[in-house]
Order: sequence, then structure tokens, then C-alpha cells
Amino acid sequence: MTTSEKIILVSGASSGIGAAVASRLARDGHHVVLAARRADRLTALVTDLAATGGSAEARDLDVTDRDTFARLLDEIVAAHGRIDVIINNAGVMPLSRLDALLVDEWDAMIDVNIKGLLHGIAAALPHFLRQDGGHFITTASVGAHEVVPTSAVYFGTKFAAWAITEGLRRELDPSIRVTTVSPGVVDSELADHITDPVAREAMQSYRSSALPAEAIASTVAWVIDQPADVDVNEIIRPAGQR
Ligand code: NDP
Repeated sequence: MTTSEKIILVSGASSGIGAAVASRLARDGHHVVLAARRADRLTALVTDLAATGGSAEARDLDVTDRDTFARLLDEIVAAHGRIDVIINNAGVMPLSRLDALLVDEWDAMIDVNIKGLLHGIAAALPHFLRQDGGHFITTASVGAHEVVPTSAVYFGTKFAAWAITEGLRRELDPSIRVTTVSPGVVDSELADHITDPVAREAMQSYRSSALPAEAIASTVAWVIDQPADVDVNEIIRPAGQR
């Protein structure tokens, strides 16, 4: 249990890493706002957390909608007086080779993984500046540093997420912490939405070595719990992932 409760927003909290992170932070005594599009999943998770004494609330959020994202942050601050941490975690990964020309899926990755992150930053930054404090956490990926076949667009969005988050870190006053969390392969629903058969097949070999989402959650909990002048970066991967 942490000694000081923080008000924390987790995007993409309806499954996988986001759900595990939100659950862990609520169990640690923070108030967690779980945001995503699947309201039923969020409500079920909040109910489970409340049953064990966790403080959490569910909010509908499509991160591609900039105005809704900004309104959500305003409402959190109006209700709780502040926002301490935003975890921009929502993401999609419909992998494919470029020559498959699944251009709508490229657009979806850009909209969620890059623009969604920017919308979260734009929504939280005015509050962090006014408070003179806050913590941005971006779920990027090991794919922010490499490219393999079928990953060009997805990893491209993660290169961008890394660069945008690093830009924040370089630009902002140190009273605002900025952390990139870059997981290797993690067990989640992320690969379930791959439509390209070649990419689906390629993912199978990675999935056998995946970390549980709780491994990322415990790292994020530790990162948040560090003293205000300690800012942690970046990669967490299965020991066997090369
Ligand atoms: P999941 O598919 O299990 O979770 C993705 C989450 O993103 C869901 O909660 C989903 O919620 C949410 N999401 C997707 N689109 C939107 C949207 N438009 N608006 C709001 N929320 C959205 O996968 P993971 O938990 O694995 O993914 C979480 C993050 O981790 C992603 O950024 C991913 O790129 C990253 N990552 C994952 C790795 C892995 O191996 N699993 C490795 C490295 C990074 P809903 O559909 O309800 O809106």
C-alpha cells in the first residue's frame, strides 16, 4: 500500500496491460479512472475492484476524439481537485506487410497510437502546468527501437510515441515527470485484431514467451511510487525475448 493516494487516469483500461495496471494501482490505494470504449468491461472491473476496497471509476473514452479526452480531464480535475498521473496506454496493432496495403488499418494505428497519445497529452498538460506537477506515462513498445517485417506501421507509431514522450521530457520542467514504458511481448488481446494471415502466423511464435500483464503493472506501480525527483525509463521484456 502506498502512503499517498494519487488520482490516476489509465486509457485502454478495458483489457490487457491497461486493465492490469489499473487494478494494481487501485489495490495500491490510488484512485484510478479506467477509460476505454468497452464500457461493460470497465464497469465489471470497477465492480471487482470496489468489492476488494479499491477506489476506481469507469469512463467512456475513444482516444481519437480530442474534445472528449479534454472534457474527461476537466471533469476529473473538477471532481477530485487534481490529476496526478495520466497513463496513455490505449493502442491497436493490426500488423501486416506494407504490400498488403491495409491502408485503413494504417490509419487506425496512426489515429489511436499517435493522435490518441497527443490528445491525452493536450488534455492533461494544462492541468499539470497549473498544478506545477504531474506524471505522463506512455506505453510505447520495444518496437519503438526496431523494425521487423509486418511491423513497419505499428512500430512506426511506437517510434513516434517514443519521440513525442521524449520530447515532453526534454521540454518540461522537472516538476512534471515523463516516463516511457516499453514492453516486449505481453499476454493481452492486442494480437487478436490482426486480420492479415501472414502477420497472425508470425505472432504465434512470440506469444509463447509473453509476459503476464501484471509484470508491466508492477513496474508501473513502482515507477509511480518513486520520489518526485526520480524519473524512470524504459524497457521491460521477457528474459528470453531477443
Ligand atoms: P489490448 O488489446 O488488450 O488492450 C488495448 C486497449 O486499448 C484496450 O483497453 C482497448 O479498449 C484500448 N483502445 C483501443 N483503441 C482505443 C480507442 N480508440 N480509444 C480508447 N481505447 C482504445 O492490448 P495491450 O494491453 O497489449 O495494449 C496496451 C498497450 O500496450 C498498447 O499501446 C500496445 O501497443 C502496447 N504494447 C503491448 C505489447 C504486447 O505485447 N501486448 C507490447 C508492447 C506494447 P477498447 O477496445 O475497450 O476501447
